[in-house]
Amino acid sequence: MIVVFDRVALIGLGLIAGSMAHAMRAQGLAREIVGTAKSAETRAIARELFCDRVTETAAEAVQGADLVVLAVPVGAMGAIAAEIAPHLKPGAVVTDVGSVKGAVVDAVGPHIPAGVHFIPGHPMAGTEYSGPRSGFATLFQNRWWLLTPPAGTDPAALARLRALLEAMGAKVDTMDVAHHDLVVAVVSHAPHLIAYTMVGVADHMRRVSQAEIIQYSAAGFRDFTRIAASDPVMWRDVFLTNKDAVLDILGRFTEELFVLQRAIRMGDGDHLHAYFTRTRAIRRGIIEAGQDTAAPDFGRGVDPAKAAAGE
Ligand code: NAP
Repeated sequence: MIVVFDRVALIGLGLIAGSMAHAMRAQGLAREIVGTAKSAETRAIARELFCDRVTETAAEAVQGADLVVLAVPVGAMGAIAAEIAPHLKPGAVVTDVGSVKGAVVDAVGPHIPAGVHFIPGHPMAGTEYSGPRSGFATLFQNRWWLLTPPAGTDPAALARLRALLEAMGAKVDTMDVAHHDLVVAVVSHAPHLIAYTMVGVADHMRRVSQAEIIQYSAAGFRDFTRIAASDPVMWRDVFLTNKDAVLDILGRFTEELFVLQRAIRMGDGDHLHAYFTRTRAIRRGIIEAGQDTAAPDFGRGVDPAKAAAGE
């Protein structure tokens, strides 16, 4: 047990902050975890489950904190940064866990006073659950945590944050902000939008009853519904703030879709076979890189209710 930060302040107490708190507690990585959230209900649950202390405001929460983690929807970060700025301890590290980095850097960066180290971050881990009861200590185990430190970031502050994230089980990488936003548009944001669309299409198919869709949803559709059950506020903010990269990827997606559509119409089996052979190789590469397992039901075991029930 090595204490990496004496006092950690978590702003927002949902899936990501809760999982961080559970992981920090399990490893003894912080002496005190202080938290705040919008509602009194969330604060009470967090106090019971994973916070040593909760405060009503973010300004109070960050006082004396060595590490401040902004774990609210991306669209809420700028206002919180403005609120906490005058109360930050000199030498503190401020990070965030937002799924988009450019918009967070623009909204938060200007508020951070000199002498405080702002190191934006993004854990590439999550589930479709949200709220203070959804977190668990192993969420970040073997998952990437991307950091986008600005030029001139204090190496000691970066090393300390990296040490904390690695102790929580994450693999840490650094990259620049624009590159981050493009990469996540491909691997996360566009796939979510496609899942939302597919579930929306099924919903609009009046000829097929909802009962049948649910009854026969064992195949690919079930995975789409799991992704499309993700938090609406979080994902609204992701698309509004990573607009350019998402629109770029969706443009490419639409072009590919038309090519496949044409191959189906023309009965071009060779094209379809070659295409699906290439995509299958990508799946193998993901398994070889340790980002998934070959088990067909991977990812469904993270239901916290089921995990708590020992299923
Ligand atoms: P979540 O479970 O919905 O929790 C969000 C928390 O933020 C809640 O505690 C909420 O309080 C609080 N909050 C919202 N607005 C606030 C405000 N103005 N002031 C204070 N607290 C506020 O969300 P999450 O999944 O942990 O996501 C948090 C961040 O992590 C987002 O930026 C998201 O992009 C990023 N992220 C999420 C995932 C994922 O898969 N979920 C993965 C990687 C990164 P109440 O409960 O009182 O409303």
